[in-house]
Amino acid sequence: MLDDIAEVLFTRDQIEKRVLEMGAAITEDFAAHAQAGEGIVMVCVLRGAAIFMADLARAVDLPLEMDYMAVSSYGDQAKSSGAVRIIKDLSTDVKGKHVIIAEDIIDTGLTLNRLRQDLLSRDPASLSVAAFLNKDVPRAEEVPCDYVGFSCPNEFIVGYGLDFAERYRNLPSICVLKPEIYQ
Ligand code: 5GP
Repeated sequence: MLDDIAEVLFTRDQIEKRVLEMGAAITEDFAAHAQAGEGIVMVCVLRGAAIFMADLARAVDLPLEMDYMAVSSYGDQAKSSGAVRIIKDLSTDVKGKHVIIAEDIIDTGLTLNRLRQDLLSRDPASLSVAAFLNKDVPRAEEVPCDYVGFSCPNEFIVGYGLDFAERYRNLPSICVLKPEIYQ
């Protein structure tokens, strides 16, 4: 797998440290809600955010539920289709609960904005976004994000849950894929 990697952007140790910081920030921000007995649901956007959410949820020192959604995004290609469709819905009713979306990477922001609209229509007590990576790209639409792990360059990223054609998700670091692999 490592032959296909152009560059390691963030190592396992850097990722671990940053996710612990994000978890601590969420713990601080939601402690009063948890103390008041209000529900917190962390929503994973499958499949890319599965590893991130597993780590982030364990870095939050509050009671919370974990639930999963799947949306269609890039398929096996390295370019956004622009179309975002919910293909697996939550098992939980999030009405009246504090929802924290765990997203792997924000590129155009289309996926996240579509998800936000959908989840807001379910009447949550609040809606926040924790994105592990934020791509450094100009965007037409603003993408609200409350917690960001790292900014990353406008390259095709794999590892720590992120794939290309279902490969590289199990790389422990965040890497840039060599363009000849996906072009
Ligand atoms: P957006 O809707 O923001 O353009 O794209 C969001 C989704 O596209 C992410 O959740 C992720 O699944 C996929 N994506 C965007 N950029 C990359 C990338 O560099 N690498 C990988 N593996 N997936 C990406």
